[in-house]
This record gives sequence, structure tokens and C-alpha cells, in this order.
Amino acid sequence: MTLAELKQIFTSKLEQCYDKDEIEQLFLIYIEDKLNLTYNPSFIIENNDDIEKDISQLQENKPIQHITGKAFFYDNFFKVNEFTLIPRPETEELIELIRTNHLENDSLSIIDLGTGTGCIPITLKKLFHNADVSAIDISKEALIVAKTNAENIINNEISFYEKDLLKDINLNKKFDIIISNPPYIRELEKQEMHKNVLDFEPHLALFVDNNDPLIFYKRIIEFAKKHLKNQGFIYCEINQYLPYETKELFEEYYSNVKLIKDISGNYRMISAN
Ligand code: GLN
Repeated sequence: MTLAELKQIFTSKLEQCYDKDEIEQLFLIYIEDKLNLTYNPSFIIENNDDIEKDISQLQENKPIQHITGKAFFYDNFFKVNEFTLIPRPETEELIELIRTNHLENDSLSIIDLGTGTGCIPITLKKLFHNADVSAIDISKEALIVAKTNAENIINNEISFYEKDLLKDINLNKKFDIIISNPPYIRELEKQEMHKNVLDFEPHLALFVDNNDPLIFYKRIIEFAKKHLKNQGFIYCEINQYLPYETKELFEEYYSNVKLIKDISGNYRMISAN
């Protein structure tokens, strides 16, 4: 069949679950990232079982990134699977914030807490060539993905540690920058989330208890007490519904705390030093 015919099949099979623009996008990502093709309507491909299976998984709301096995972030593709969060555009904004704030200093020591795919430390290492970059995650499976990404994208060069941020950590090392995109979505926010996130992305990486939604920020501050240099900076992604609570928490320990909005106009980042 031709790619135009495949597009037709995508549209007819997915129109119950997605709107027109989403289908168009899914189709383009599919042919580019899964079939390694660019869209030429008359190009002929073999129909195969994989394509049928993939379309039925899309009908079940499986994220396209789990079907292609990768997600584009900042300027690279990252391997993803069910153990890692799919990197989000908001996190690219966090990277951009650090890049612009630290342009003049290439030899920073940086650690990412809760690294998932490793998208943050790997992208930072590409931007700050001489930086000494580390990352931790609680999940063995996520660390396997992060290490594969580090190998593929930057030939390793990152120190990974399997650590639980909720427990006491002592790395005997101090950093210029501590960065984290920790779990911050309250269970009560689940109802506004899409099935493709709820059913397929790791809850360990997403959710926190309604009663203690800032638990990871408290732990990041504890970590920073031991591991942040005197002039160091903390950068975190935050819950858009809890910006002032998060700011107050950081202000107990740091004199210069800023909330930063994302492209949608929501407070999504915090910096502290
Ligand atoms: N640091 C990773 C990311 O930003 C994972 C974050 C997480 O699992 N909470 O995508």
C-alpha cells in the first residue's frame, strides 16, 4: 500500500479516539520515527503485522513514544519505555533556563535528582562540555535506559547512582547546580489527566500523596544541605497549582528564590540560591 493509503487507515481507525490534528501528528511521528520515512504519499510500503498491532495499541491510548521507543527532547532522541517518564517540552524550558543563566561557566558540577531517561543530565553535558555531571534515580530499570541514552548520545560521561531521594543520601561531593523534575502531581489531579499518561507512564515518577505534595522538594533541600556549594543553585520543575507553597518552602532556606513561568504561562520552574 502507499503511505497515502496508510494515512487513510490511521484516520479511519483512530478518529474515535483522537482529533484530526492529533491523528495527523501521530501519523507523521509514526512514519518518521518507526518506519524511518518522510511523507511521500505515493511511496509504497509493505503492510505488515507490526503496523496493525501498532495502530491497535494507539487505539488503546498507548503513547506514540512507547510505540516508536523514543522521544525527541531538546536536540536528541532519547530511548523511552514504561519505566521512564516521556520527556516533556516544559523540561526543555528548564534546560534553557540553566543554559542562559550559566552561559559563562563551562566547568560546572551538576547533579540531576530523579533522572528517568537521563534527558536532563545528558542535554546539560552537551551544552556544558567541561561540566562534571551526575544523576540519581531510584529505579534500576530507568537507570538502564538512562545509561543507554548516555552511551548513544554522548559516549557515557555521566556518573549514575541508584539512590532513593526519600532516604538519606551522602555522595561526599558538592555541586554547583542541583536540578530535579521530581514527582509532583497530586493523586487528586488524576481526573484531569489523559489515559495515555495514566495507563502507560510510571506512577512512581509522576504522583505524590495529596497530604504531602511537596515531599520531594523537602528532600531536595535536605540533599542540598549536604551537597550544594555555598554559591550553588537549585533548579526544579514544580506543580503549577502549588507555586507559592513551593516558593515559601525554599525561602525558609534560600534568600533568592524565583518562580518562572513556562510557555503556557503557568508557574512551572523554581530557582533558588
Ligand atoms: N528527569 C526526567 C524528566 O524530566 C524524569 C522526571 C521524573 O521521572 N519525574 O523527564
